[in-house]
Amino acid sequence: MERAGDVAVIGAGLIGLGIAFELASRGATVRVYERGEPARAASWAGAGMLAPYSESTGDEQMLALGAQSLSRYPEFVDRVRAASGIDPHLHLDGIVSAAFDEERLRELRAHAQALARRGVDCELLDRESTLAAEPALARTVLGALLRRSEGYVDNRRLGRALVAACEAKGVTIVRSATDVAVEADARRVLGVRSHLGFTPASYVVVAAGAWSASVPGIPTQFAPAVRPVKGQMLALAAPVGFLKRTTWIPGAYLVPREDGRLLVGATMEDAGFDERVTGSGLRTLLDAVHMGAPSLLDFAVTEVWAGLRPGTPDGRPLIGPTPIEGLILATGHYRNGILLTPVTAAYVADCIERGDAEALAPWLRMTTA
Ligand SMILES: Cc1cc2nc3c(=O)[nH]c(=O)nc-3n(C[C@H](O)[C@H](O)[C@H](O)COP(=O)(O)OP(=O)(O)OC[C@H]3O[C@@H](n4cnc5c(N)ncnc54)[C@H](O)[C@@H]3O)c2cc1C
Repeated sequence: MERAGDVAVIGAGLIGLGIAFELASRGATVRVYERGEPARAASWAGAGMLAPYSESTGDEQMLALGAQSLSRYPEFVDRVRAASGIDPHLHLDGIVSAAFDEERLRELRAHAQALARRGVDCELLDRESTLAAEPALARTVLGALLRRSEGYVDNRRLGRALVAACEAKGVTIVRSATDVAVEADARRVLGVRSHLGFTPASYVVVAAGAWSASVPGIPTQFAPAVRPVKGQMLALAAPVGFLKRTTWIPGAYLVPREDGRLLVGATMEDAGFDERVTGSGLRTLLDAVHMGAPSLLDFAVTEVWAGLRPGTPDGRPLIGPTPIEGLILATGHYRNGILLTPVTAAYVADCIERGDAEALAPWLRMTTA
């Protein structure tokens, strides 16, 4: 690689690790600074749904970016598995959205028609087919939409795999790093300062998730406008296969895992950097399960946790080069950072390797903190 001899990445979530893995695979020398443990934070707390269509808010460019990342997932996971020896458990067997009232059913019908026009593989299920597909749902269900190409990845396994894959490719991961700061002059980036002292770098990628706005040393006019959006989740010990696919019910989603955990998520809270699990958060989730899939309430609750999504004012990620030469943002992935890891990694690597930032043009807005 011509110009990417030295890249520093700040933040070892899936986004920072994905970029480091991609760059190292292309021959770059990469150093990742993580103030805690790698692959924890939001990347550990998330549900791992790969759901550009189910999660669509009507933003066509976001939908295209998500669909592009989804299509890259199998190949990305193959490469990470080969480099790490860890299988991230990718399941692209569909996501079910269940309707419990006529209005939701109408919405799902309209969504099915819109998806069919785009050539997306989906199917409307009547009540009987819905219950046959997911017997755990309440008998009051009216029907469902199955989007066949979506699914989930076990994001905790993907995180562990990416750490191992990065290290196998020669990436240096500096754990428990303190006083991490970008060093730049008015024109270009110089490197990273940390408890280890100053290390020069031609490129510095800010991938610090919900904390990206406060990474020291980013010139204030370019500090990304990212804020935390809290999500609480819980896990139930259900028999493997009790829920066959990721399933949306009103107010929550249910995501299976190969290890028998069944995840229930997630709240959406504007609570600053508070990561406590609260009674009201759990109640919101359990009320939704009570309505949509009450048989699940017989299973033991084995884990509860919370995480902070990196949100932006317009709900879109901030990815790409800033006017400070060599300073690149890769943050603000909000509800879809696990889905968007492969495409973010590839686009940022293209930008550093070839100076090709064309694909990133829609994603770099100078919305500053
Ligand atoms: C409850 C919940 C459910 C979710 N479900 C899904 C889902 O189903 N599908 C999906 O696609 N997405 C989901 N998301 C969103 C997804 O998890 C995030 O968008 C994604 O993980 C963001 O990754 P990241 O690497 O940017 O941030 P993070 O994973 O938060 O990593 C940022 C890292 O930067 C480090 N850091 C911060 N500041 C500094 C500093 N100054 N110096 C050094 N290191 C620093 C932090 O310690 C952290 O390790 C969910 C999120 C939550 C909270």
